[in-house]
Amino acid sequence: MKILVLGAGVIGAATAFFLARKGAEVALVERTAPACAASGKAGGFLALDWCDGLPRASLSRRGFALHGELAREAGDAVGFRPVETFLVATRSAGEATPWLGSGFRLLDRLGEPTTTALVDPARLTRWLVERAVAAGARLSIGTPEGLEPDGQGWRLRLAGATLRADTVVLALGPWTNLARCWIELPPVFALLGHSLRFELAEPLPPRVLFVRLDPARHGVGELEIYPRADGSVVVAGLSRPARPPADPTAVGPDPGAAERLLAAARAVLPALSRARRVEPRACLRPVSADGTPLLGPLPGRPGLWLATGHGPWGILEAPATGELLADLVLGTTPRLDPRPFDPARPGAWN
Ligand SMILES: Cc1cc2nc3c(=O)[nH]c(=O)nc-3n(C[C@H](O)[C@H](O)[C@H](O)COP(=O)(O)OP(=O)(O)OC[C@H]3O[C@@H](n4cnc5c(N)ncnc54)[C@H](O)[C@@H]3O)c2cc1C
Repeated sequence: MKILVLGAGVIGAATAFFLARKGAEVALVERTAPACAASGKAGGFLALDWCDGLPRASLSRRGFALHGELAREAGDAVGFRPVETFLVATRSAGEATPWLGSGFRLLDRLGEPTTTALVDPARLTRWLVERAVAAGARLSIGTPEGLEPDGQGWRLRLAGATLRADTVVLALGPWTNLARCWIELPPVFALLGHSLRFELAEPLPPRVLFVRLDPARHGVGELEIYPRADGSVVVAGLSRPARPPADPTAVGPDPGAAERLLAAARAVLPALSRARRVEPRACLRPVSADGTPLLGPLPGRPGLWLATGHGPWGILEAPATGELLADLVLGTTPRLDPRPFDPARPGAWN
């Protein structure tokens, strides 16, 4: 069976990885470069049980377990780092510590190194693509111009080439809506998120911070601070709905957003003032209509599958998504119940 996976973000990469490892003939088609969008710029925070009680809980828990397994195989290549996780705010209550800025306190402990961790999402995505290629997958860079039924399968038109396949998996993240001009699909919305990547000479201790700030004073209501093992620190905040440009590399920060994040981040964690380089970034989260990922066959379109809509948890859930899609597409019994993610569910089309 020939399988085309469109989009080499973390979801397409993980799907190609598990398909190739199960012996399938896979081609991964990416418009720009693997990890060029949110999968290269996300925080990379992983939590075992933060989605418990939601329809996606099984995907998150399995994702967390698989990240541990992949990190054992990949060694340093994916930047896996168990972390403690804290809630921080400007309150009189809470614990003051010398490494937090003036007025900020530790309010709560949200996770232990056994339940929360970080990966470097860009390195993870590229590693998954490399390992998929090593297992026989083919990576093509090109812009799809159309997708049409072709006998029992599908035909993808690229500039200067046509690819045929029995099965196509759409893993286009926020660009899934572009495929709606070829085929009827449930909507996928985009949320623009801003971040800063700091480079420090020495890694900060493995403490992730979720910070609540006074927007009137700091210009930002919430910040997330992710200190990676390689000395880089990602600070994320400031989200809003957005419309994806056709070219994923054209996604950029709003005017003034980087300056607001920078001032707030340095106020919370003065160590960030020692950074030798600060890179402002922006990227888009793909969000389904009901907030649950869309994973499975498209109704009435045999051979066409959807893998997107992971919102804030795409890095965490990518390995479990790839594993689930590979089992479903190849007809082997999946480890997780796929029904909560079925793209045919009514809530996905609202
Ligand atoms: C600021 C921020 C922080 C985040 N932090 C975390 C976190 O800490 N933990 C976590 O679990 N998640 C996090 N996320 C969410 C996570 O980044 C996303 O859910 C995930 O990256 C989505 O992956 P994807 O592969 O679906 O989409 P993308 O990464 O957007 O990949 C889609 C791919 O499709 C390609 N493409 C587009 N058009 C075409 C086309 N026509 N043909 C072929 N390819 C095309 C793009 O170039 C891109 O490579 C964060 C997101 C943001 C914005």
